Amino acid sequence: MQPLEEELEQARELSVDDLADAIESIGFECTRCGACCTGHGEDEHIATAFPDEVRDLESADGESDAVPPAEDREWRDAARPMPYGLEETDEGLSGETFEWALQTDGCGDCVFYEEADDGTGACVAHDDRPLICRTYPFSVALSGTSQPMGEAVDEAGIVRAHECEGLGRNISRDDAAELARTLKERAVRELEEAIGVRDEYEPTDPGPGEVVVHDSEGAKRVDGRPLEGE
Ligand code: SF4
Repeated sequence: MQPLEEELEQARELSVDDLADAIESIGFECTRCGACCTGHGEDEHIATAFPDEVRDLESADGESDAVPPAEDREWRDAARPMPYGLEETDEGLSGETFEWALQTDGCGDCVFYEEADDGTGACVAHDDRPLICRTYPFSVALSGTSQPMGEAVDEAGIVRAHECEGLGRNISRDDAAELARTLKERAVRELEEAIGVRDEYEPTDPGPGEVVVHDSEGAKRVDGRPLEGE
């Protein structure tokens, strides 16, 4: 069996109870500080969104200063090519990349993030947010899964915790179990997606100023349209 398929088997066998135990022992309550939704200095916010998650965000209720209402929203309003591997040229961003990142505004923050007058943050597409946002600050230690930005700062069993001011706070068993179920769903999904990307990948040769994004559905242009079939 290939490594990704082996990891997918492991992800499917993860015990939700064990994951919930680990989350409970680390502890977590979101303070809505917004640090996981915003850029930091020169670093833009980067979070993976799978193609169906981008479509959900495209039609999600809610709007912000940086994202138009659903009826006027396009793929590019919700997602941008994952920046890794792309090159800034005289003609603009160029090259091939894998997967999509949530779109960012001029400050490098997620376009769906909005700060209230009291300084707390909120996601305007909260009910449709991607799995990686639903499970922040946790990840599972399987190498084929994606890790949020930043190093792990704590771990328990197979669960890793990333930088977040809400860590160490008490969490109810019900909330830990819910988070554990979503964390398992995310691990399985990330590995299925990674296998899909690997299997669909056909090298392309984007010209200057062109970007091709490979996801589990094939090669796409920056506006989400398939590369082929034009
Ligand atoms: S960094 Fe942690 S506490 Fe702050 S908004 Fe994100 S999950 Fe909540």
